[in-house]
Amino acid sequence: KGKAFFVDLTLCTACRGCQVACKQWKDLPAEETRNVGSHQNPQDLSAKTIRLVRFNEVKEDGKLKWLFFPEQCRHCIEPPCKYIGNMYADGAVKQDPVTGAVIMTDKTKGITRLESWEMCPYNVPRRDEESGIWNKCDMCINRISKGMLPACVKSCPTGTMNFGDRDEMLALANARLAEVQKTNPDAYLADPEHVRVIYLCESAPENYHDRLVASAAQRKNLVAAAPKPKTVTRR
Ligand code: SF4
Ligand code: SF4
Ligand code: SF4
Repeated sequence: KGKAFFVDLTLCTACRGCQVACKQWKDLPAEETRNVGSHQNPQDLSAKTIRLVRFNEVKEDGKLKWLFFPEQCRHCIEPPCKYIGNMYADGAVKQDPVTGAVIMTDKTKGITRLESWEMCPYNVPRRDEESGIWNKCDMCINRISKGMLPACVKSCPTGTMNFGDRDEMLALANARLAEVQKTNPDAYLADPEHVRVIYLCESAPENYHDRLVASAAQRKNLVAAAPKPKTVTRR
């Protein structure tokens, strides 16, 4: 139950409409960027850029190929960030019972001495250096609770971004996967059983991003190995 995104990476043209729409709706400021010899800008997610189109150029069958990965929080069904973050600051990370959206509140200010990857298998949330508050995608909860589409989905012109009931999105993802596998048997869905942002991928995970996928064991280990706040010594 709840909601989900289906993101068909085979259709993404990296127009960055979703990245801009996200910034506009969330009223997040632009960041100073510089040309480092690729189209990638900004270089990484941040508290001000919670949705980022990643650009990758790979060689497949002797040919160069662009792979695009519009990254956002995956809204895990069992979110490690909630269990770990709330050990540091009670009530810091919430999960909407209706949609399943995982939401970071201002109380995340109390989550200190943790790296993003220590509470998120996808290394997604980022801490604002000035306010100390962690930020990430909140599924556009104030839009979807009024029946609107998330801003990124609304802005996508290619059909890459889809949003709806999780059952429907899973069915759509599996139908589209079967279609793509007719010409590319290696196509796959990234972690569909664990997340609410289901990516359809046509190339190996590492060709998109080092944390495109995360195993169930990785999730478990993350929670098991989470440093307890009281036993952590200041670095
Ligand atoms: Fe890709 Fe759609 Fe985002 Fe454009 S708006 S970068 S096509 S996901
Ligand atoms: Fe940004 Fe909203 Fe899309 Fe999340 S759902 S990436 S907050 S536009
Ligand atoms: Fe939390 Fe990371 Fe999962 Fe998002 S992707 S819900 S930040 S653990």
